[in-house]
Amino acid sequence: MRRRRLGNTGIEVTELCFGVLPMGPNQRGLPPEEGGRLIRKAIERGVNFLDTAQSYGTYPHIRAALDSLPDRGRDVVISTKSAAKTYEEMAAAVLEARRALGRDVIDIFLLHAARVDASVFDERKGAYECLLDMKSKGIVRAVGISTHSVQVVGKATEVDGIDIVFPIINVRGMGILHGTRDDMVQAIKRAASAGRGLFAMKALAGGNLLSDIEGAFAYVRALEGISAVAVGMVDEEELEVNLAIFNGRPVPLKTRVANTKELVIQAFCIGCGKCVETCPNMAMEVVDGMARNDKSKCILCGYCAPVCPQFAIRLV
Ligand code: SF4
Ligand code: SF4
Repeated sequence: MRRRRLGNTGIEVTELCFGVLPMGPNQRGLPPEEGGRLIRKAIERGVNFLDTAQSYGTYPHIRAALDSLPDRGRDVVISTKSAAKTYEEMAAAVLEARRALGRDVIDIFLLHAARVDASVFDERKGAYECLLDMKSKGIVRAVGISTHSVQVVGKATEVDGIDIVFPIINVRGMGILHGTRDDMVQAIKRAASAGRGLFAMKALAGGNLLSDIEGAFAYVRALEGISAVAVGMVDEEELEVNLAIFNGRPVPLKTRVANTKELVIQAFCIGCGKCVETCPNMAMEVVDGMARNDKSKCILCGYCAPVCPQFAIRLV
């Protein structure tokens, strides 16, 4: 599989990045051993890049995969992120990742900033300073930000020290904040020209674009500045389809993946609005005391489920 360098970092990754969100407790809820077997299989088939986050609850799945490999996955590049706001919170998040993953050095550590605007660099100044300190001590190799916002990609092009930007981009522009799809394409291009390494999230818009999976991936892979694409996977069929596409092989019809994911709000919702505040895509509202999901905006990221105090949201 084709490998590409992430900006000026010297880190080389496969174009297919294994997204380790959906197998975790926020979505499919695979046990770590089962998820770990799938991750291991992907690594054995050539994938060397994993994307996770403190909030995904999937460090144990990655650890299970690494521990089962003869060299403990020495060449596997792990990118993680945290919504920490202060220096101390970020220091704790980095320590947690190092312990949970069994690695002294984390390859890529990002500010997890899906929903916010460019003020994130002021509001989370302490957390970002911590990442820069971790990098100068050699505990983190590269730092940056994950975002759904065109504004944030623009700001990350200017802020000193940013190595990596992880933006949302897909052919339909679903989930993009503070601009259009084409604004995001231009922002990505400028960030890459400034030496940032970029990999893309939500190329399939949470499964909404699965009816033309080849077209959806081809669009993002062709974008100037995008080195890799993070793709969530929960079973072998999805892995096989994605390996075929990223290795330039035809996808056998019988293994075509259908979008079976659905967001369900259960009747014991109390209308507290926490999911509305959390959703990066304004896809939730409370109507008559009950949460309601707008399927035309929802990218099935699952970020709303863990914040619900009633456990009323499920991605099934
Ligand atoms: S967070 Fe849960 S309880 Fe609150 S409005 Fe959303 S679904 Fe309902
Ligand atoms: S409603 Fe939930 S799953 Fe859908 S986009 Fe918003 S946070 Fe993601």
